[in-house]
Amino acid sequence: MLQQRLKLYRGDDNQREAALKQLFIEAGCSAANLSEQPVPGRNQPNVICLLPGATAATILIGAHFDHATDGDGIADNWSGASLLPGLFQMLASAPRQHTFLFVGFTGEEQGLAGSSFYVKQLTTEQIAHTEAMVNLDTLSLGPTNVWISQSDPRLVNTITATARLMSLPIAGVELNKIGESDEESFIAEKICTLTVHSLTPDNAHVIFHRSDDNPSDIHLPDYFNTFHLLTTYLAALDTLPFPRQHVCTTKVVDETGPYHFRRKRRGLPSPSVP
Ligand SMILES: [Zn+2]
Repeated sequence: MLQQRLKLYRGDDNQREAALKQLFIEAGCSAANLSEQPVPGRNQPNVICLLPGATAATILIGAHFDHATDGDGIADNWSGASLLPGLFQMLASAPRQHTFLFVGFTGEEQGLAGSSFYVKQLTTEQIAHTEAMVNLDTLSLGPTNVWISQSDPRLVNTITATARLMSLPIAGVELNKIGESDEESFIAEKICTLTVHSLTPDNAHVIFHRSDDNPSDIHLPDYFNTFHLLTTYLAALDTLPFPRQHVCTTKVVDETGPYHFRRKRRGLPSPSVP
């Protein structure tokens, strides 16, 4: 199932947006709970699937579905976006305390357009209710990694403990000089975030040289492990007693690096290909 969904990366961002919506529908996200949020300046909207819970306390899982113009954009970030409907399905199978939001963000590669617009239209109350934002960007290249300095320590500790209990691999891999993603938009509002990825110095060529982002780099067993870890992790977050209105003031990112997930347009030269 995950493998079939991953194969739908083909096409332009219009096709990817349509594919994501279709996957949410097939996963059981009802018409009343599935919405599109138009984003100024973008041809594609944010795609939002709401999974109501017993309370207004909210956990948001986000992944951008757009991709850079070169390459297939399968790892970055169809791997993350196409996982959202599966995570929805797993969480929908039992009652929840939290309201969950699954958001496919548009325009991450264009200055975090979708996520920054999403955050800007939130009310103060909605921001206060958002207990965690879990960002998935560039999975499937290897085992699950978390960007520790960009994430809330409690969220990191919980996913680490979950991985240990499940005997699944997890590691901290910093991307301070490599990447940034939609979590930035949420950090700006002091919302607690966790960034999950699979990048390492050995596979980062897929985001440095976008044409390398194609199916040959995908490691399905690792991808399945990331999915299983995330399903249990999100279920664990649902039961954790978060302090009400917890505010995160995560890190100051070292932005001296020339490359971001979205490859900032700074006129800097590409690294040489070895
Ligand atoms: Zn990305």
